[in-house]
Amino acid sequence: MSTQMQEWATGPHPQLYIAPKVDVQFDYDNQAWIVNGRYQDCAHPNQDCGCYGRTHKGNRAPNIH
Ligand SMILES: [Zn+2]
Repeated sequence: MSTQMQEWATGPHPQLYIAPKVDVQFDYDNQAWIVNGRYQDCAHPNQDCGCYGRTHKGNRAPNIH
């Protein structure tokens, strides 16, 4: 292993510390993911799946903490 590779493996990884905080929750009542307070698309390939996350995607979610 070269010195450069060792530095990458053992040295600090600044990008891990400056990454913005991502708050991920699961709304069990609606079976939808919430990221940073907003409902997320369910990502199903079927456009008509009718999931709460799809019909409300981008909407602000109530705080369920
Ligand atoms: Zn879906």
